[in-house]
Amino acid sequence: MQDPISIPTRIKKLYLGTNNRKKIIELVNLLEPRGFEIKVPADFLDMFDVDETGTTFLENARLKAIFQARHRGLWAIGEDSGLCVPALGGRPGIYSARFSGPGANDQSNNELLLKEMASLPSDKRQAYYVSTIVLADPEGQIHIETQGECWGRILLEQRGVGGFGYDPLFEIAEYHQTFAEMGLGVKRAISHRARALRAFLNRLDEMNA
Ligand code: IMP
Repeated sequence: MQDPISIPTRIKKLYLGTNNRKKIIELVNLLEPRGFEIKVPADFLDMFDVDETGTTFLENARLKAIFQARHRGLWAIGEDSGLCVPALGGRPGIYSARFSGPGANDQSNNELLLKEMASLPSDKRQAYYVSTIVLADPEGQIHIETQGECWGRILLEQRGVGGFGYDPLFEIAEYHQTFAEMGLGVKRAISHRARALRAFLNRLDEMNA
């Protein structure tokens, strides 16, 4: 029987190129049980941001992975994610973190989203999260690209205190709960990031077979 936590033989150390603490927790929770040694920006003295100049989640994830892999000299995961609302033409999309402009934070972004969707009836309130994950080697060559999505709907007011970003507004119909109301364990099983990472880990296993 295959050992469920066996790790690929070639890549054991992975750099997670994000400064978002909540994202780090979600990703580490998914990666560490498989035996990977995870490095994060806080393990290094120099801090930097990668300019997200891409026009898609994939382009931005590639930029993050390539730049950070080269800079750290490690295999690096670049992740880009966001919320897309079809009734808003896909916005906030890649601008999810900075939706409400300079100085944006989760609260101001959620308030703007509610305002922009105020007149939308319930059948126009569907939305989906996207997470795109890219793996680059220390030379900046890309080896894996995966994407995960998770559909829900945007409520009329915030519910719950867990998660981050738009989670208090994002309800999963089957659970009658927002991502901010459900435990991290459930989010870890069904989220866009979990889906992207599961596909990513399958590819990593294949690569190291
Ligand atoms: P990024 O760090 O540039 O990828 O921006 C991601 C942004 O998308 C976050 O700041 C949130 O606004 C939103 N987002 C991505 N994933 C999630 C999630 O799991 N929950 C809530 N918001 C998310």
